[in-house]
Amino acid sequence: MAQAPKEQVVQLYQGSKRIHPKLAKGRFANLRILAIVATQLFFYGMPWINWSGRQAVWFDIPGRHFYIFGMVLSPGDLIYLAGLLMISAFGLFWWTTIAGRLWCGYACPQTVYTEIMLWIDHLVEGDRNKRLKLDKSPWNFTKIRIKATKYLLIFAVAAWTGITFVGWFVPIRTVVADIFTLNWAALSTATLFTAAFYGFMTWFFGHIMREQVCKHMCPYARFQSAMFDQDTLVISYDPARGEPRGARKKNASKEETQLGDCINCTMCVQVCPVGIDIRDGLQYECIGCAACIDACDEIMDKMNYPRGLIRYTTEAALNKQYPEAEIKKRLLRPKVVGYGAILAAVCCLLVVGLFTRDIVSIDIIKDRGVMARENRQGMLENLYNLRISNSSETEQVVTAEVSGFNTIQLNGLDPQGISVPPGATITVPVQVATYPEYAGRGSHPIEFTFYYQDKGDDSTRRTLVEKASFIGE
Ligand code: SF4
Ligand code: SF4
Repeated sequence: MAQAPKEQVVQLYQGSKRIHPKLAKGRFANLRILAIVATQLFFYGMPWINWSGRQAVWFDIPGRHFYIFGMVLSPGDLIYLAGLLMISAFGLFWWTTIAGRLWCGYACPQTVYTEIMLWIDHLVEGDRNKRLKLDKSPWNFTKIRIKATKYLLIFAVAAWTGITFVGWFVPIRTVVADIFTLNWAALSTATLFTAAFYGFMTWFFGHIMREQVCKHMCPYARFQSAMFDQDTLVISYDPARGEPRGARKKNASKEETQLGDCINCTMCVQVCPVGIDIRDGLQYECIGCAACIDACDEIMDKMNYPRGLIRYTTEAALNKQYPEAEIKKRLLRPKVVGYGAILAAVCCLLVVGLFTRDIVSIDIIKDRGVMARENRQGMLENLYNLRISNSSETEQVVTAEVSGFNTIQLNGLDPQGISVPPGATITVPVQVATYPEYAGRGSHPIEFTFYYQDKGDDSTRRTLVEKASFIGE
């Protein structure tokens, strides 16, 4: 009787193994350290800088104002945020077209926090081999002590990151003072939740998820290839020089071994934070950290081979379509120039817009409850609310006049002007009146002209014209 075929279990899910990369040393590792120090000095340090008696950069969401040094932005200035987003997007396109995933490798918060957590791993548990050994060893007092120290440090970094993040939105000195004096009642639920959540995410993404975020969650990894072309600088292994790979004695001649320059030491794989082998070609998982370049250069130095078996190069140069020396010339290609031009234009518009914007903005809101009414002088009157926002650091004095009919009056506003404190928004009800013979049935265009200046400084006087409509009988 024929035997039934053996049942075979096919696993559709493959769990990922924890990667313990070796720390690379070299010029690109130094650049990464520099980038991490610079970005983190900015992130952790900026909320502590004061300017004119308050936090220099403070995104005061409940107060609906963003303070950036001497500039106060209100909800009406959201257009500048759109400009900033456009600059970020085009900046990313531009850099990616020129040099691939520079952002990922050097400045992305995911890479930066993963790297910081790896530094802690390295500091407490030692280099790759020691970490692998420790993970495999049974639990004992030493292992518990080492792991506890590591998690204490990770917790400290994550907690401080969460507190710092909140400090961009709530004055950080107050938050830190309240936390360290255990004055929990003074901290709002939103503050506590945001700090705890951001701290948790720092730990979760930086320590637990690590390269999995870049491999499986980040959309940029997927669409970056659309911005690549054959002249984009990417980190590549040179198979023409490296193959056939193989181990050999240090001073063995090429004629003797018949091998390429790759000694198959796997150092480029051991330092890779995403656990790939660059020798398999360009892969979407590669975050462009250049650790493999440093690792391979070190090996090339030891073997007395020229550096650059793994290097920044372009696909076309690697395929010998032009010599490597020509790579620089290819920088000025239409796509790069196009992205660069758009980027420069948006930057200019943003800077000009920010420095020439009206520091006082006024919304004229028609009182819909009363369309038109007759006042004591027998004039026809419309009611308006003037919502005046002062986006500057100085008190502004606002006066106004109105035009549109042969005879027209503006009532309710102090002729000496109304004072608007720095960063404040106030609402002032006013009445506009004219004689009925000028304003027949329907809507009539009128114009408000506002004058505003720093209190007591006529030289700062500026004009703002706003249109409105007057409803006749
Ligand atoms: S580090 Fe260089 S020599 Fe060593 S395996 Fe990688 S490519 Fe080959
Ligand atoms: S392949 Fe090289 S550049 Fe890419 S992630 Fe790995 S180490 Fe970094």
